Amino acid sequence: MGPTKRNMYRFPWSGNDNPIGWLEVTDKCNTYCRGCYRINGMQGHKTLEQIKEEIDLLAKWRNCDNISIAGGEPLIHPEIMEIIAYIKSLKMKPLILTNGIKLENNRPMVEELKRAGAIGFTFHIDSEQQRPHWKGKTETELFELRQYYADMVHDVGGMTAFFGMTVYPGNLDFVPEMVKWANKNIDRVHGLVMIGYRNASMNSGYDYYANGEKITLETSYVFEDTEESYLTSSDVYDKIKEHFPHYETSAYMGGTNAIDKMTWLVSAQLGNRHQMYGSVGAKVMELFQMFHHLQHGTYVIYSPSNKIPKIAMFLGLFDKGVRQFNGKFLKDVLRHPLRLFQPIYVQSIGIIQGPDLMEDGRVDMCESCPDMTVWDGKLVHSCRMDEWRLYGGYVVAQRKVAEGGAGGNGHLIAPDAIPVGEGDTIHPN
Ligand code: SF4
Repeated sequence: MGPTKRNMYRFPWSGNDNPIGWLEVTDKCNTYCRGCYRINGMQGHKTLEQIKEEIDLLAKWRNCDNISIAGGEPLIHPEIMEIIAYIKSLKMKPLILTNGIKLENNRPMVEELKRAGAIGFTFHIDSEQQRPHWKGKTETELFELRQYYADMVHDVGGMTAFFGMTVYPGNLDFVPEMVKWANKNIDRVHGLVMIGYRNASMNSGYDYYANGEKITLETSYVFEDTEESYLTSSDVYDKIKEHFPHYETSAYMGGTNAIDKMTWLVSAQLGNRHQMYGSVGAKVMELFQMFHHLQHGTYVIYSPSNKIPKIAMFLGLFDKGVRQFNGKFLKDVLRHPLRLFQPIYVQSIGIIQGPDLMEDGRVDMCESCPDMTVWDGKLVHSCRMDEWRLYGGYVVAQRKVAEGGAGGNGHLIAPDAIPVGEGDTIHPN
């Protein structure tokens, strides 16, 4: 079922004014994830000069508030400290998307990254990774590792720690455990990012074309079939909602072609280490975006602090979610008066439903894609950048036509007659 758009705020982000700039500093990685959409080691580390050019482009033409430093694995880039310092010098927030392997038993590197200006990390940890020393571990067994990183970053202080996982049909039932663990560690886990697994297949009834030429798709996300590539953001939402009554989403992004889905679903839960009391509503989400843009000139997705001042309870005057929070919190304070003096934290859950191949061959992307990255001076979807690296442009899918032409689904469309979706490429100059 999932949430309804009427009860949520649609993020005001666009291709030209977006809080996030996605920066890939290398395509090399020190592990392998089944759902990865980057071919490992095709080009290696980018030069510092090239990276600075990309950062400049994102700052100038996309008005970013933060730069998500990704890869491959960004922490294996030899100039990672210089990259972070450069982003900081342009008054943007450097956030590192990492598998964390370089930080295992390496607290000094966390401290050095902090000194360079990094605001924090999104740790990608799930059971579909070939992670040294943790191969074959279940999602539950991986809590030991997640706790290790959360505690280390918390101990260093002044940094954020988010945890990301790819959601497959095989680990969907694990999602509530992940939320429970995060809620229990709300003081040190700033949020969760759950990305629905997506892949393509050459056996899916479509032919693929690049620049008008029929191709065999060779990106890293091509598999025998797409049996597992169907979870929607609503499926993940329903799974969480089933177990956590306090959980509610308050903001979303739609698709570029499909209207019946939410590609990004965001919740901001409120609670402390003892109890979760509720989630902010759409009004507060809207106010937060508008106020940040008025104050800093940019929209926002990552806030350095997860502590909420008690004065924020007055937002309950116009926000339903905060009103519900106030009620539950004050009832709990009557039972435990000392909790009135303990911090309240906010913890986000972001659910992402990546690209979907539609019946007619169009690919439905996330509207105003927040994870646009730079390829050859252009902004392209990071999840489909390998199509540009391999074929110099987006691949177009065309439903196979039964032998002898018409009679398949009656359609016979020339590849370049297929309409290209909104916002596929942006040329800043
Ligand atoms: S369209 Fe953008 S936000 Fe959506 S999965 Fe792809 S890169 Fe991520």
